[in-house]
Amino acid sequence: MRFLSLKPIFRYAIIIFIIVAFTGIVFSQFMNNYIVLVLVLLTEYIILMMMLHFVFDNYVKPIRKATDTLDELVKGNFRARMHHPVTGSMASLLMKINKLARSLSELSINEKMQAEQLTTVIENIQSGLILIDEKGYIHLVNKNFLSLFGKKEKDYIGYLYYDVLDNEKIHKAIQQTFLYEEKVKDSVIVESDHEQYFEIMGAPIFDEKNILKGAVLVLYDITELKKLESMRKDFVANVSHELKTPITSIRGFSETLLDEDLNDKDTARQFLSIINEESKRLQTLIEDLLSLSKLEKEDSRLELANLHFSELMDEVIPVLKQQAESSGITLKVESVDGLEFKADRSGVKQVMINVLANAINYTPNGGEVTLIAEEQKEYIHLMVKDTGIGIPKESLPRIFERFYRVDKARSRNTGGTGLGLAIVKHIVELHNGKVEVESEVNKGTAFHIYFPKN
Ligand code: ADP
Repeated sequence: MRFLSLKPIFRYAIIIFIIVAFTGIVFSQFMNNYIVLVLVLLTEYIILMMMLHFVFDNYVKPIRKATDTLDELVKGNFRARMHHPVTGSMASLLMKINKLARSLSELSINEKMQAEQLTTVIENIQSGLILIDEKGYIHLVNKNFLSLFGKKEKDYIGYLYYDVLDNEKIHKAIQQTFLYEEKVKDSVIVESDHEQYFEIMGAPIFDEKNILKGAVLVLYDITELKKLESMRKDFVANVSHELKTPITSIRGFSETLLDEDLNDKDTARQFLSIINEESKRLQTLIEDLLSLSKLEKEDSRLELANLHFSELMDEVIPVLKQQAESSGITLKVESVDGLEFKADRSGVKQVMINVLANAINYTPNGGEVTLIAEEQKEYIHLMVKDTGIGIPKESLPRIFERFYRVDKARSRNTGGTGLGLAIVKHIVELHNGKVEVESEVNKGTAFHIYFPKN
């Protein structure tokens, strides 16, 4: 048994020794010259040992190394290679094993890369994703899905979907995907810290024999879309409401004028002047709506030109001065000489008119409205301050919304459309500028408008 545990080379060496000893015993029967006998045996021993060495080095050793290398490859170590100096058929075997190892290594690198790419895609898509097998066990959930439901991966993987997901709509989408074996679409509201709207897309997964193997469910966040949709609906409702009032009034008074035989010229005149006022209101509203829609167009462009502030004021102030005077308000302009900046002429004019008109409209008789223009490092700062009714703190963040008014009746009485500041904000932002407001109820309001200098 100890013999078997010896290294092969020693085993063969012992066998050769036994053969040589045996031939020595046989030869000694016929040979009397012991020196010749020893020389013959020694030569025989050397030749056999050289043969053994040759066979061992060229066949036994490479085969052993090949077996070891293949063992490593089977274990998945594709970096294993054979290095043994051999020639002939053994060299070709060695080359082929190394080539196989290289191919396997490339294959595994490719597979790894593909798996990594797939994981990157799954983890980075903006939607939540969950993979379920045909028995209903969850196999994969991505990062977005986890952040949506606020649990950990281990809380889902290996569990039945209906045990760990408690949204009925998601259950239904999964069941329908399995039942109809086709794509399913639905929408769901998920309540986390705020309400989120999702579109659910369920798709069945089939194997090559077209047997259902599971389903993948993608939750696509449509909260922003929903918000936009509701804003659009609100906008349409607001516009309809704004149009309804003057139109009802125009229709009512014109019908009265037509139906009744009005001999009273004064009353007829009064009715006609109401109709005139209301149609003016309609016109302003439509003009404001058109301005807004023009500004909101993606390709809305500014015609930038070098503007001289004093020239601009020469065009704007006369219109407003008249309005201020008729309301008993002092309108002042303070500016440094030679103030220039690059901006869209009609845009800046509209901004100034809207803000100054508001200041006059929301300032009681005897008040003061001041426009101050100054040059700052990066911006041209235009400030319009009044001594008017002011804006309550809670309304300040909302005044730039379309149709938002602090006091509806007052705004309507001054001919306001509720769109003036929304237009201002749009124009200023198109210039990459900013608009800020500070106000104190019954003390006054100051609008700060910043236009970039260039
Ligand atoms: P409106 O046509 O109603 O004036 P705006 O969009 O121009 O619409 O302004 C929105 C609301 O902001 C106004 O209805 C008003 O309540 C408030 N507001 C704007 N400017 C002033 C101001 N200078 N002083 C007080 N309130 C103002």
